[in-house]
Amino acid sequence: MLPVLGQVLDARGAVVSAPERTGAPLAFGLTADELAQRLPNDARVSAASIFQRVQRVSSWDADGPVVGKDGRALLASLDMRLPHIVEEAPSEDGATRVVLQTSDGHTIEAVHMPRPHAGRTTFCVSSQVGCAMGCTFCATGTMGIVRNLSAGEIVGQVLALMRAHGPQTGHHLNLVFMGMGEPMHNLEHVARAVEILCDPAGVGLSEKRITVSTSGLVPRIDAFAQLRVRPLLSVSINATTDETRGRVMPVNRAFNLAALKACLLRFPFRRGEKVLLAYVLLRGENDSDDDARRLADFAKGLPANVNLIPLNEHSLSAHRAPDDDHGARFARVLYDELKARDFHGVLTTRNNRGRDIRGACGQLVQERAAR
Ligand code: SAH
Ligand code: SF4
Repeated sequence: MLPVLGQVLDARGAVVSAPERTGAPLAFGLTADELAQRLPNDARVSAASIFQRVQRVSSWDADGPVVGKDGRALLASLDMRLPHIVEEAPSEDGATRVVLQTSDGHTIEAVHMPRPHAGRTTFCVSSQVGCAMGCTFCATGTMGIVRNLSAGEIVGQVLALMRAHGPQTGHHLNLVFMGMGEPMHNLEHVARAVEILCDPAGVGLSEKRITVSTSGLVPRIDAFAQLRVRPLLSVSINATTDETRGRVMPVNRAFNLAALKACLLRFPFRRGEKVLLAYVLLRGENDSDDDARRLADFAKGLPANVNLIPLNEHSLSAHRAPDDDHGARFARVLYDELKARDFHGVLTTRNNRGRDIRGACGQLVQERAAR
């Protein structure tokens, strides 16, 4: 059974209620307009400075924008606590896996990845505690779904990482929703977090520097396409027949490869925009020459780039990565097949950052559930 927007289901399909949210609302999940509505009529002009104060971590220690008496009262009525960083694991390659705790005691994970040569940093963030989709190669998938993160918790992850490791502003920051969870399953909160993060009065990210990765929840991709502030799309393909994909990614039983391709063909791409087709290589499962041909067929006619990802092996899954030679062969065959189909995108192999700290894709799992 597939989840419905706004509903959280556990691995057996039962609805899990969000935790009791008592007390003050989380400040980070409120837009500038919503802050304004909480101010007395004659004080609404100061809403922009209050939003700035909340969202711009660089102003927290220094003299931030002056918010006035009503502003101070408003801030005092809101929950201003960032998700608490409980563990940090720096990797040899410069990435840091950050474990954060939500106010109700769940742990989520994010990865901070500076790219000094490009002068940019990428944050990989979580959208849910756990994930309902149950992909057999993914550590998070083994947890089942615990709950959605709220928009404030998603924004809070970004602010917590900025505060701990920089950058101070969003101008050189990229964001990918490739941490724990299926962001399209929590589209309402993800979309709200994106709007808040892209407000130039706050962090000021660009929607063209944010990527939302999905396992292929077709109706949600259609809804995502209509968002006012709409990030880029990455789709995890990971298999080329419905038989294999249905086995390793149960979502395929509801939305098969043909439905996914049709959805991408009707997606309203902006000029020059491409969808990223992500493909995790699983030994003996999806890494044959025929798979390479079928993957090229899937990509045909789409404005796409293709990203091959060597599986990060972990103890929660029996899948194995192909050996390096075989992975390279798959990439070569795929390259030729794409070329033969007049493909205009780029084929890359992902360098799995943070592998030594379990910060790489699909290795993020709440420790408690992993034991
Ligand atoms: N739920 C979304 C986003 C989070 S997963 C999605 O599935 O797209 C982010 C990426 O990590 C996806 O492309 C997924 O296929 C990949 N992934 C999951 N487990 C992995 C593993 N063990 N090794 C390598 N990549 C993995
Ligand atoms: Fe969920 Fe993505 Fe992992 Fe699949 S790969 S279980 S959709 S987080």
